[in-house]
Amino acid sequence: ASGYSLLRDPHHNKGLAFTEKERDAHYLRGLLPPVVVNHDLQVKKMMHNMRQYQVPLQRYQAMMDLQERNERLFYKLLIENVEELLPIVYTPTVGEACQKYGSIFKTPQGLFISLKDKGKILEILKNWPQKKIQVIVVTDGERILGLGDLGCQGMGIPVGKLSLYTALGGIRPSACLPITIDVGTNNEKMLNDEFYIGLRQRRASGKEYNELMNEFMTAVKQNYGEKVLIQFEDFANHNAFDLLAKYSTTHLVFNDDIQGTASVVLAGLISALKLVGGTLADHRFLFLGAGEAGTGIAELIALEISKQTNVPLKETRKKVWLVDSKGLIVKSRLDSLQHFKKPWAHDHEPVNDFLDAVKSIRPTVLIGSSGAGQTFTKEIIETMSSFNEKPIILALSNPTSQSECTAEQAYTWSEGRAIFASGSPFPPVEYNGKVYVSGQSNNAYIFPGFGLGLIISGAIRVHDDMLLAASEALAEQVTQEHFDNGLIYPPFTNIRKISAHIAARVAAKAYELGLASRLPQPEDLVAYAESCMYSPKYRHYR
Ligand code: NAP
Ligand code: MN
Repeated sequence: ASGYSLLRDPHHNKGLAFTEKERDAHYLRGLLPPVVVNHDLQVKKMMHNMRQYQVPLQRYQAMMDLQERNERLFYKLLIENVEELLPIVYTPTVGEACQKYGSIFKTPQGLFISLKDKGKILEILKNWPQKKIQVIVVTDGERILGLGDLGCQGMGIPVGKLSLYTALGGIRPSACLPITIDVGTNNEKMLNDEFYIGLRQRRASGKEYNELMNEFMTAVKQNYGEKVLIQFEDFANHNAFDLLAKYSTTHLVFNDDIQGTASVVLAGLISALKLVGGTLADHRFLFLGAGEAGTGIAELIALEISKQTNVPLKETRKKVWLVDSKGLIVKSRLDSLQHFKKPWAHDHEPVNDFLDAVKSIRPTVLIGSSGAGQTFTKEIIETMSSFNEKPIILALSNPTSQSECTAEQAYTWSEGRAIFASGSPFPPVEYNGKVYVSGQSNNAYIFPGFGLGLIISGAIRVHDDMLLAASEALAEQVTQEHFDNGLIYPPFTNIRKISAHIAARVAAKAYELGLASRLPQPEDLVAYAESCMYSPKYRHYR
């Protein structure tokens, strides 16, 4: 290949880091200025440039441009500055990027499959340049973060999630495939936006939708085999539960919103127990929001309590209460409830108002998973603080604009007593002369390591026990020093090490359950996981 095309190939380009020898051998002379710099200096320069941008969306665009120009520099930057850059390539900024995806669109990323491609999905998969795919993140764009239906512009989410698979979980970038399935959008704003990049029609549903998804799932297995992981991301709940149930018996599938979120929240609760005392079974849980995240978390909590206490799941579920847009989920509503809410319809008189539900249930743990911002009001937090010495409050909704409350509100209204974590990050808060650092309760802690564990064991199915294993592995990474600061999650700085531990536990569970196909089982799974992780170090070209 010519030097010119080498500089334009993001997988191989090193920019000014090409050595003198490489410049001679690969026809690069004259195409670069004389200076030769090292990878570290390139990182330093990029971070310097990045910090000049005050607007987060500009930083996002700079990151995407870098990914398209020099992949190894992009990943080195992200890995070495994960705390600073996560809010850019992921929530909250990725949400804004999706909303404006049409107008900021430059180089296409990922694979777009639309209704127009019916009958041709296998051919389309073959257009993707990489053949050995290990992880697919797929969305249909109907429930992007808490922002709703963004149609085809949801592509920012699979792209962002897969950058985290590589940066946080060490999956090779070339083994990652972001996909958006465009079946239309019901978002009027998108339909009327002249820069919209998707199909300009209302969403297909029912048979037409199911057939397209089925063709997709079949084509993926045919093209990439049994062991490719398909992560469903940001589907609306009227499809998400059904897709997961339908394909979990034939494919290696994982729904991040239902399962990944559940695992990360359970980890946070397990570690919060060190601060508040007692066992999970001693606590009472109330959710605002009974969708994918809410019921997914609820089920994993009930399952863990059941395993710990030998009490049947049917009974342990009674410790968990959920509120949806129509109020507390109770028995009298049973007939009209969507199927995923039915297990949570307990005996109680109807309660319409969320505050009344808090007062009546008197939870020790309050979890926000509704996508509606500012719903944990002063009164809600004060009420929680009136009967809990240390109320556990998790505001999971993303992006920041949809958060149930801010960290500052949680600490102020609870007079510094809340144990607080949120889906999108908040800066540290000073209250009464003390600094409070809140954790980020986000599935980004789980899915990269979880996926790595599936891949290194050659798992062929996902099992709930693997989610529990991942939760335990994450909770074990929280140290006394973190607890002393009130943190229930470790910082993201050490995330690759954390991911290796999660991967090892997930893989061990896969072997134990007979779901692993990579034999024999490696002796030291943590070391093995680490040895499998992608490094963004430059290669030497001869
Ligand atoms: P979903 O399946 O659409 O569920 C939303 C639920 O919230 C539904 O039960 C809905 O009620 C209820 N709801 C909506 N507005 C409400 C209001 N004003 N008052 C009371 N209930 C309300 O969505 P999801 O997938 O669970 O996601 C929800 C949120 O969680 C999103 O913001 C998402 O970004 C966030 N999330 C965070 C993470 C994380 O890692 N931190 C992971 C996944 C999701 P009805 O059923 O009555 O309509
Ligand atoms: Mn999601």
